[in-house]
Amino acid sequence: MNNTKIVATIGPSSYDKALLKEMFAAGLNVARINFSHSNHQEAKQIFDWVQELNQEEDRNVAVLGDLQGPKLRLGNVEENQKIKKGQEITITTDECIGNSSRVYITYPDFPKDVKVGDSIMLDDGKLILRAESTNERNEVKAKVVQGGELKSKKGVNLPNTKISLPCLTPKDLADLDFSLKIGVEWIGLSFVRNVEDIIELQEIIKKNDSHARVIAKIEKPEAIQQIDEIIMQSDAIMVARGDLGVEVPMERVPNLQKLITRKCIKHSTPVIIATQMMESMMDSLSPSRSDVNDVANAVHDRVDGVMLSGETSVGKYPVGVIKAMNKVVKNVENYADLQMEEYAPIDKNNGRFLSDTICFNACKVAEQVGAKSVMTMTHSGYNAFKISSFRPPSKICIFTSNRTILNTLSLLWGVRGYYYNDFVSTDVTIADITNVIKLKKVVKEGDFVVNIASMPITQKGMTNMMKISRVK
Ligand code: PEP
Repeated sequence: MNNTKIVATIGPSSYDKALLKEMFAAGLNVARINFSHSNHQEAKQIFDWVQELNQEEDRNVAVLGDLQGPKLRLGNVEENQKIKKGQEITITTDECIGNSSRVYITYPDFPKDVKVGDSIMLDDGKLILRAESTNERNEVKAKVVQGGELKSKKGVNLPNTKISLPCLTPKDLADLDFSLKIGVEWIGLSFVRNVEDIIELQEIIKKNDSHARVIAKIEKPEAIQQIDEIIMQSDAIMVARGDLGVEVPMERVPNLQKLITRKCIKHSTPVIIATQMMESMMDSLSPSRSDVNDVANAVHDRVDGVMLSGETSVGKYPVGVIKAMNKVVKNVENYADLQMEEYAPIDKNNGRFLSDTICFNACKVAEQVGAKSVMTMTHSGYNAFKISSFRPPSKICIFTSNRTILNTLSLLWGVRGYYYNDFVSTDVTIADITNVIKLKKVVKEGDFVVNIASMPITQKGMTNMMKISRVK
């Protein structure tokens, strides 16, 4: 098992239980449902297949329901419509079939929100317009800065415009409600602009008695301005490089990826790198050298997850691309010399600071004595997030009686999750779980292991002890 986890989007190319089983075997850790493309019937089927395969294959693959958010799009456009640099084009909120002089946008307040001079990026930034005037009602006139072919339903990005749409659209609320009902472990929120967007989503999740965790997708310049607050409030972060590379100049994305990764590790917030990681394998059985290096770079930075989108949802080789990515991850991890992350200064006002200190020192002790594993039981998953964030060289073995938590933890760097439901005494549990990982060949007789737990174990309280032992 690798430390860096693989997230893959399920779509038409992989919408088949037998294929999904092969993807599991190839190294899939998190199955992503993209609500921009999947309907509820498909989402339910994907979720059910993952649960069945988890049982059949003794795995804990998580499901991520990724909400579309306020994605702006053009309407339908006639065939072969080219726009040329310097020409004028009208963008209207009145529905129509577009052509090279007039096109519909799915954003009713666009003429009110846009300012003269704002950039209007179409089709992932392939076409660029500049707003020249607006009647503040239903029409904006724009000048073409970079021309090309205008195509139906393509995305629109407005990097300089303050968009008045809510982060959760009516479609998102319906998809969220559905996702919580079926029981997905992770919810992705697109086009996050500020920390309130995350809080709003978390409150809805709580009201629905769900423990689903929130992944904030970083793809707007506004989110970069508040990145620390967003990282601290979210359960995980996705560097959504597709839209991010349109909303901010693409040459800034590599540095932002590194900056966000470093901040996430420091705050114990898992981080996923997304989009075009293995793009060359959309229709080829081997990846380009630059794709291999892109994945390797993320592994070296010790991100939690690397994500596949089109490669597994509409690409030709959904299994082959996971196998290739898995090989790259494994090789790079074998080469990389792991250094533990330092522990952020202790905040004694944080109610969890004793657990945090024990988690950090357990990893440190494990490193010093060369222990093969750091192990713990968890009820909420909190210790797993903490231990993982220190990126220890020892294997991280987490035991829980909660299957949803078990799946949730599949995204976290280095975490191996095991089901365990026997709470007799601390000594018995430690002996039991050590035996489980010995049987699974994670450790062998004579290896050191470091256990942390809460005593007395039956009270399921906060972590308050650490024990070093040798495997018998
Ligand atoms: C992205 O923009 O990189 C991304 C992951 O978002 P989506 O695939 O949902 O458009």
